[in-house]
This record gives sequence, C-alpha cells and structure tokens, in this order.
Amino acid sequence: MGDCLFCAIATGDIPSASVHEDQHTLAFMDIQPLREGHALVIPKAHAQRIEDLGPADLQALMTTTQHVIKALKATLGVEDTTVAINNGPAAGQEVPHVHIHIVPRTTADAAGPIHALFTSRPDIASEDIQALATRLRAEVMA
Ligand code: AMP
Repeated sequence: MGDCLFCAIATGDIPSASVHEDQHTLAFMDIQPLREGHALVIPKAHAQRIEDLGPADLQALMTTTQHVIKALKATLGVEDTTVAINNGPAAGQEVPHVHIHIVPRTTADAAGPIHALFTSRPDIASEDIQALATRLRAEVMA
C-alpha cells in the first residue's frame, strides 16, 4: 500500500535491522524496543488486521515468529516471550499493517501478563459465556 511504513520496510525502501526474510514475511528489530531483542514479524503483503490475511501469509507469519523466538533463545538466552498483535487501532495499533511483536520477558521486568492491560473485568454470567460460544461456533462453522 502506497503510504504504509511497513510496506516500505518490506520492499527495502525504508531500511530496517532485518532478522529474517522469505517469500511471505520479514522480521526486523523494533526501532523503539520495549526490551532488548524486541522484534517484529510482518507479512510482505499489506493487510491491516490478522483476519485480512490469506492462509499462506498467516502460516508463514507464525513460522517466522517461531524462528525468531528460537533465535532470541539461542542468541540472548531468552526463555520466555510475550507474543502479541495490536489488531486494529482500538487495540493500540499505530502502524496499520499486521505485525507480531516478540518481546523477551523475565520475571524481573514486572510487566505482567497481557491480562494486566485491563484493570477491571465485566461481570458476565457463565450461561451468557456459553450462549456466546454457541453463536460463535455457528459463525465459525458457517
Ligand atoms: P503498534 O503500536 O502495534 O502498531 O506497534 C508499532 C511498532 O512499530 C512500535 O513498537 C514501533 O516502535 C515500531 N516501529 C515504528 N517504526 C519503525 C521502524 N521504522 N522500524 C522498526 N520498528 C518501527
């Protein structure tokens, strides 16, 4: 897409600290890392959200993510990572091109799980959770 930062990185028009490249994906270091080793994995094809990706890009994205995690483990001794997608602007996405964040984690970083994003939880009855699961299952199977 014309004015997309990560499309420009995918084509090499904007440089990046590249870690891995294949037919479908590119992995590179985040320019403002949350922790040492913070890397991003993107599909070369433009899509804003994960649900907009085709199956080949989706599969390659996860495969590359696994490669980068293993490289972080081998290189920095990173045992644990938070693997996250801000999937659209309401979820905090700033660059509107799918990207998987891989952030090395230690218990000492005290950042907590992704559950720490939310300071309260809605009070939803278990039968309502079950009813929603039924509706979702019908939609997934459609
Ligand atoms: P998000 O908020 O999920 O859209 O995250 C966008 C990420 O892209 C942030 O962590 C930025 O630090 C990172 N970022 C922005 N520009 C660049 C760039 N030119 N090279 C590498 N990472 C970038």
